[in-house]
Amino acid sequence: MKKFITFVIAVLLISSCSGSVRKGPSMDSGPAPLLSFVFDDGNDTDYLVAREVFKKQGVAASFAVVTDWINTKNYLTVSQLLELQRDGFEIMSHTVSHPDLNSLNADQIESELSVSKAALEGWGLRVNNLVYPYNKNNAIVRGLAGRYYRSGRGGRSMLTPAVPERYELKSYSFSHNVDKMKALIDRAGAERKWLILYLHNIAVKVKVSQRDGVFQQGETLLFSPSGARGRYTKKLFDWFYFVPLSAPPHAGDTITGQSGKATCHLEEILYNEKEALTELIEYARSRHPGMRIVTLDKGLDIYKVRSEE
Ligand SMILES: [Zn+2]
Repeated sequence: MKKFITFVIAVLLISSCSGSVRKGPSMDSGPAPLLSFVFDDGNDTDYLVAREVFKKQGVAASFAVVTDWINTKNYLTVSQLLELQRDGFEIMSHTVSHPDLNSLNADQIESELSVSKAALEGWGLRVNNLVYPYNKNNAIVRGLAGRYYRSGRGGRSMLTPAVPERYELKSYSFSHNVDKMKALIDRAGAERKWLILYLHNIAVKVKVSQRDGVFQQGETLLFSPSGARGRYTKKLFDWFYFVPLSAPPHAGDTITGQSGKATCHLEEILYNEKEALTELIEYARSRHPGMRIVTLDKGLDIYKVRSEE
């Protein structure tokens, strides 16, 4: 036992002396590593699913909305956006009509950026930051973004450093490989950088068999015996996609469409984005206690990026 304790002390001494290992937040000179989740496009699953996941964990996320799509089928309504803002979530602009900004002239770009912001503010929403559609941006786009926004988020599959290029914040697309996402969280923690993950509609993908009848787009699905519920979105080969509206279903469940009465057998859950979000938040918290899970606007505050002039 004594030998073991000596060994542990020696390991601790070695690791605390090595330059690559940083101390806890109180001893640290730089800002904490950050983790942000951004939901692009303004799908109604932001309200129906993400809101519950993040509120349960006591953390916030950012929702980037396309103003032309608000109040249309399966997208957020203005009252849902206001409720999300009241709950502490950030609302971001994702332009008026979701064009590739690089393909537009300067007047068109400026209109996409300014009209979307004015519309959101007219509804009583605070909007400081922008997500470029398809993550596409160039020097002209970034320059014009600077007239209206505090930052613009692009892609590039990179971590954002503590001194960020604020009109080209880096991000990764959310992957269905949860271990890969956990490895990114570990890298952000070790390098003390900002991991921004973006995703869209929150869905579950399952493999089904013994299908009988036709499922109707948008209908409610009942899973038995698990008691789970969902909203049917689409079928592709033997795969079946739906929005999770409850605790997860189980392999072996019978799925019944509430309006068409079609049925099928649930063979296997291939991914469940709702469960994966919870898993990643809990992973970041337990493995990286110094990591902060924040909205983009809060992340910019922590990194001391000045507000828009
Ligand atoms: Zn988009």
